[in-house]
Amino acid sequence: MKKMKTVSSDNQVQVHPFTNSSTFAWQEIRVHQKVGKVTPMDPSAPILADHIRFVCLSDTHLQIEKGQIKIPDGDVLLHAGDFTNTGLPIEVKTFNDFLGTLPHKLKIVIAGNHELSFDYNLVKNDRQHLSRYGWTRSIMETMCSEYGITSVKELMTNCVYLQDSGVSVCGINIWGSPWQPVFCGWGFNLERGQPLLDKWNLIPESTDILITHGPPIGYGDRCFDGQHVGCVELLSTVQQRVRPKYHLFGHIHEDYGMKTDGYTTFINASICTVKYRPTNPPVVFDIPVPEGF
Ligand code: 5GP
Ligand code: MN
Ligand code: MN
Ligand code: MN
Repeated sequence: MKKMKTVSSDNQVQVHPFTNSSTFAWQEIRVHQKVGKVTPMDPSAPILADHIRFVCLSDTHLQIEKGQIKIPDGDVLLHAGDFTNTGLPIEVKTFNDFLGTLPHKLKIVIAGNHELSFDYNLVKNDRQHLSRYGWTRSIMETMCSEYGITSVKELMTNCVYLQDSGVSVCGINIWGSPWQPVFCGWGFNLERGQPLLDKWNLIPESTDILITHGPPIGYGDRCFDGQHVGCVELLSTVQQRVRPKYHLFGHIHEDYGMKTDGYTTFINASICTVKYRPTNPPVVFDIPVPEGF
């Protein structure tokens, strides 16, 4: 396992003119898309020789710790964020302790908008805002001193935590990023268009598995009210520049499932339903180990 370098690119993705009207943008974009269904693989199927099995979770919101969900065996566990409700240190510790009980050799986790305490700007500058969620800086500081830490990220001892950063596992490059379009002022919110594109521009072209908290437009981003709320520039980045084999995310609980554009497999692995019930099964896929590893 080694740290990945950020690769710069001449291949610039442009901001879409309708980026702020995502449902409308998708009506235009979808004309040029072949959205296909993907049948999930049987998580109890034996792993083929020279393959690595990835087990995908997202949006567990402190519900998997109760043990109702069977987490399939595999080599690497991936979690696409929203593992807590508000990111309090006690919640982070509960999740990390649970990760410690799982047999997977490696666990890779990103934050979602619910991990408020992982968003440095919120913690630093926006106490009033945080108090809306019953989350005060003094609760945070008391808990941190109780655990002998200065940042909640230090509690993530049983996983590799990615935040606009990557790891390489047996030659398979994985990149993780927590940002999503502004919605109700939670953590890692950014405006659509250039601010989000600036984050997506950090994703190296060599990425094989991309993990973001939010979905791209059109592939696993349909809300219960029919609106498509995914990020347009995230789809453009995936399709025009990075072309990962897998793109894992969650955030829009009600659009759980897998889709393909003919090249990339898009996985919305939200375990919780829109009512925060943990009823969707984890998604599993196998990748052959690249030659030379
Ligand atoms: P969470 O609060 O766990 O991040 O998201 C829970 C639910 O809030 C989602 O399943 C979805 O119904 C709704 N939601 C999250 N983000 C957005 C958004 O950007 N727009 C809309 N309309 N709904 C969202
Ligand atoms: Mn969620
Ligand atoms: Mn690539
Ligand atoms: Mn979310």
